Amino acid sequence: MTESGLVLTRHHGAPDQTTLAGYERVGGYGALRRAVQIGPDEVAVQVKASGLRGRGGAAFPTATKWSFLPKETFPRYLCVNADESEPGCFKDRVLMEEYPHQFLEGVLIAAFALRVTHSFIYIRGEYRSQRELLERAVEEVYRAGYAGRDVLGSGWGCELIVHGGAGAYICGEETALLESLEGRRGQPRLKPPFPAVKGLYGQPTVVNNVETLSNLPFIVEQGGAAYAATGTEASPGTRLFCVSGHVEHPGTFEVPMGRTTFRDLVELAGGVWKGRKFKAMQPGGGSMQILGPEHLDTPLDFKAVADAGSSLGAGALVVMDESTCVVNVAMRLVDFYRHESCGKCVPCREGTYFESELMHRLEAGVATRSELADLSDVCANMDGRCFCPLGDTATWFVMSAYRRFPEEFEMHCGAGVCPVRYRQEVMV
Ligand code: SF4
Repeated sequence: MTESGLVLTRHHGAPDQTTLAGYERVGGYGALRRAVQIGPDEVAVQVKASGLRGRGGAAFPTATKWSFLPKETFPRYLCVNADESEPGCFKDRVLMEEYPHQFLEGVLIAAFALRVTHSFIYIRGEYRSQRELLERAVEEVYRAGYAGRDVLGSGWGCELIVHGGAGAYICGEETALLESLEGRRGQPRLKPPFPAVKGLYGQPTVVNNVETLSNLPFIVEQGGAAYAATGTEASPGTRLFCVSGHVEHPGTFEVPMGRTTFRDLVELAGGVWKGRKFKAMQPGGGSMQILGPEHLDTPLDFKAVADAGSSLGAGALVVMDESTCVVNVAMRLVDFYRHESCGKCVPCREGTYFESELMHRLEAGVATRSELADLSDVCANMDGRCFCPLGDTATWFVMSAYRRFPEEFEMHCGAGVCPVRYRQEVMV
């Protein structure tokens, strides 16, 4: 464990971390050398010992995901999901902008452990400057012999390919990402077969997130047990959280899992802004359920947050102060999902449309009580009935907000105006 207890941002403040020379000065690519010395199986053993779980949202154990690859089938591929599009989430951007070589070293370590010879980094279309920065870093990596043929004289070679998306949220879903990477419309595939068996170009494929892989240099350098010790038994390691919304200093913070609470995160971000009171928060990004003030002392632990009725998801925390109209927030999120629905299945394609229409009427104060009942009905016909998780999650925030603030939803019906906004304007 580092003195600071940090993993991903342990080199914060060291100069030139975006360049190969700067990263090598802090020992960069030493973990890749070590990986080559100890061999791919031992790297996998250390990742298992670390207890690392995917940081893209699903929190699936990384070593278990790797173990699903059929032993004798080649070629196999590693695809990095850098299509960070979750509302409120920007931590992969920070990792690629500030520590691109730490990330690329993680990609190469994973590729070595998985005996992969081609790794693809699928980066969000809107991340243009980050893509350019990453491409420059990839060139440096090739020149230094960390990628390409015969890496560090190991006899193993790996090509790194950076591929830009076209700005579709659904391509963060791993099979839609693979479709897009193959040049087709980004729409999810039927599972099974899962990508580990039949993924990119029909071959076994592992899809891992940027933050997940950025942890690997530390794990190989210091051992899986040292990584696990930075968190708790149930939630090992540290994690980056993006705190935004009504806080004084929005930003990205690395904290140990399980030992930190939501309240700590809000305080790290300077507390609720303008001296106002806390009303609610959305952990995990736009897809997750709303939580209230009684959950502020919940530890950032997968199970504890699930027990509270939400999820840590992709590592975002959006804070809402007392002036927030949750109906307005829900309407905006529903609009996002309506826009991002890929249109492949009816419950999501039609459901997000009706959800959005109803939410606009409700927010404007022109919906009736029976339309509020229709909203619940539409959501019930989407959740669990869609082809991929986008359709399910398009209902979670709305329905959790309705359950938590029923009176706020009901007082919009027939009010002729958003009553929350009206009250504030009158008070001003
Ligand atoms: Fe596409 Fe939505 Fe169906 Fe997913 S749930 S396949 S995003 S239409």
